[in-house]
Amino acid sequence: MDELLSFLEEYLQLEHEIEYARVTAAPDYRAIRRKGIRYYLDEPYSLPSGPKQDLPDLAANIAPRVIFKASLYAHPDFGQVLRCVLSSQFKSEQLENYDELIEVANTDKGPALIAGYNPCHECECTGELDGDPCRACGGRGWLHAWSERHGDLGAPLEVRRLVEPTILHKRAYARED
Ligand SMILES: [Zn+2]
Repeated sequence: MDELLSFLEEYLQLEHEIEYARVTAAPDYRAIRRKGIRYYLDEPYSLPSGPKQDLPDLAANIAPRVIFKASLYAHPDFGQVLRCVLSSQFKSEQLENYDELIEVANTDKGPALIAGYNPCHECECTGELDGDPCRACGGRGWLHAWSERHGDLGAPLEVRRLVEPTILHKRAYARED
């Protein structure tokens, strides 16, 4: 777990540097690529567009995303997959909500982000609605957003809770706690 988690922490720090640069100056994407971090850092998250005078406020309100929880799974192709629940990048709401589920694994090119999921807002990531499986997400609590699709990975080998969310503390990703 430690190697994949360290990779993700490095990735999130770099992601933040890119986003900060986007609202304060032009990011140097070549320098970023030379750092060797792969996947969608060439296309970092889009911040809300707005009047230019809002940008200093925006820059002051972003921070590296927090990892709430990391769960390690055995995987037939990757050996192991680390699923991590992340916060948003906005300081003002950072500890309140789950924002994304990211999967990290060792690939033939080294550790990389292999998939991402968005929160299911129908069931607030619980996978249940009124005692029944949530239809919107198939009871998973998350909606596949990009790249790899897996079947059920079974029970995690290890779960590490790094930070507890402050408001949506009831949220859990279904069947994986
Ligand atoms: Zn749902």
